[in-house]
Amino acid sequence: MDKSKTKISWRVEKTWAADVPGLRTFLLAEEHEFFTPYAELEAKLKLYNEREIEKSLLLSGTTLESSDYLLPLAQFKYLNIWEAVKCAALMAYKEAVSLKISPLVLVMDAPDASGFHKKALEGIILGSYAYEQFKGGAKSKEKKSEIFVPEIVFVSGGLDQPLITAELERLQTVCERVNRIRDLVNHPPAFLGPEEFACEAVKSAAACSLKIELWDENRLKGEGYAGLLAVGRGSNKPPRMVALTYEPEIDGDKKVPHVVLVGKGITFDSGGLSLKPGASMVDMKSDMAGAAAVLGAMEIIGRLGAKVKVTGILALAENMPSGTAQAPGDIIVMKNGKSVEVKNTDAEGRLILVDALQLGASLEPDFMVDAATLTGACRVALGIDVAAVLGRDADLIKRLKAAGEESGEILWELPLEKAYLENMKSDFADISNIGNSAYGGTITAALFLGEFVPEEIPWAHLDIAGPAYPGKKWKYFAPGATGYGARIMAGLVKNLG
Ligand SMILES: [Zn+2]
Repeated sequence: MDKSKTKISWRVEKTWAADVPGLRTFLLAEEHEFFTPYAELEAKLKLYNEREIEKSLLLSGTTLESSDYLLPLAQFKYLNIWEAVKCAALMAYKEAVSLKISPLVLVMDAPDASGFHKKALEGIILGSYAYEQFKGGAKSKEKKSEIFVPEIVFVSGGLDQPLITAELERLQTVCERVNRIRDLVNHPPAFLGPEEFACEAVKSAAACSLKIELWDENRLKGEGYAGLLAVGRGSNKPPRMVALTYEPEIDGDKKVPHVVLVGKGITFDSGGLSLKPGASMVDMKSDMAGAAAVLGAMEIIGRLGAKVKVTGILALAENMPSGTAQAPGDIIVMKNGKSVEVKNTDAEGRLILVDALQLGASLEPDFMVDAATLTGACRVALGIDVAAVLGRDADLIKRLKAAGEESGEILWELPLEKAYLENMKSDFADISNIGNSAYGGTITAALFLGEFVPEEIPWAHLDIAGPAYPGKKWKYFAPGATGYGARIMAGLVKNLG
């Protein structure tokens, strides 16, 4: 196993005596009053700030008897302030690693600090992940085994210790599942095509008590899933579709809601014959981050249980140019009989999502959510920090945004403006796969999907093209995949129970 995935170990202690060795760390919020009881520490911090050393996050050598370090949070300016706690806790952890001090003692016995424990652990587990298995060749394997892993001690003070412990265990499961799917997104295209991704889903099903159903190219053909077949035609790696199901334990014949989650899984997107420029292609192994997020959510749900039924559908294909690839001008007749003119083969995500959404709709779910790295237009509109949510059901959108607030994954609603459907007209088919306007690409993509989701199904679409793969170090995430969306979808399901 890759040593960079070393399991983080932690425990909860009621108190921690000042003379017991360990890297003692207080987290302080200068502007946001998380830890008001530490007024005297704040006063000290101000003193340091006056000496213009506020830019260094870790203030070492303090004279405070009880702490080695103070972590001011105000320097992390995020819309969701808990993201700052995660960043600060990670910095404390990295300091403990570099100083080779164990345990790292996180003090948090303020009365209003109950949420703090979870956020700190979340920042540490997600933040200490890195995809490094190809770095440094064989030698790095030895080096990695030498990585120092400090234990974390959460000081609970007057808080309910068993409750905190249970919550932290739950959170650790969530973060470990998120890190696993980050691996899938980060794997190079040669290592993870549609077939390999489907195999990973088989492993997930076995490890997380989920039922699984698989579609190979023959079954897709037999059942009329034309979108996946059309997009997959250009690749020598045939497309796949996967459905994972979680069934809750139900008393008697009580009816529980059914949630369907759908993910776009383009394992590599060259653009097809509408080939992308070289530079835009470099990160395109990440074009399956939506499917990975759905898989991650299903793993979390399988491991932690839920009170609702959940089906996760993964649409998996590789988009390549070749003599067998679909061409601009080709027309696809989808399973429901609606025809699509492919004016640009790089707008392929929506074509494979149509199949998965139609399978999802056939299950008559109470809620349906899809996640996809769908449009570059979304990055232009919202940047890399924020994902878009669009849909026809205000309640579902509200629920998704609330789940995002909890996990620190911000969703911003864009309107599903029907007038833009005019831009999607085709002279030869029922609809075109791209709009004829240079603007509003995120909205037209969602409108296109909506054409294949029956009106009566509460449905929402997440365009995660920005934060799923920011293309640089971001917040507490190392460069590469962030697993964005898995926690939102798992949170939605949890809150429905
Ligand atoms: Zn594309």
